[in-house]
Amino acid sequence: MKNKDRYPDNWNEIALRVKIKANWTCAKCQLECIPNGADFRTEIMGRSLRAQLTLTVHHSDYDPSNNHPSNLIPLCSACHLYMHRGRRKNISPGQLKLDLGV
Ligand SMILES: [Zn+2]
Ligand SMILES: [Zn+2]
Repeated sequence: MKNKDRYPDNWNEIALRVKIKANWTCAKCQLECIPNGADFRTEIMGRSLRAQLTLTVHHSDYDPSNNHPSNLIPLCSACHLYMHRGRRKNISPGQLKLDLGV
């Protein structure tokens, strides 16, 4: 994680706010994720499903030091991975926003 030191100290708080505001729903595929600390039954769901239903916060411009609300997009882990894979294709942040409908 070479970018880790660029995240602010209160990143977890910032990310949590974005997730709550989004109702724990992925901005791209509308998948409803599991809120942090929610009571869930790992033994029934399994760890991989839990991972799939984890909401993450993506930086639209890929800059972790830019935490302006418009730069923060709630994404499920699958969509988040997809965004970072798609980065190789020279997609501009403006195009990303269009793709996400935000
Ligand atoms: Zn998604
Ligand atoms: Zn990201």
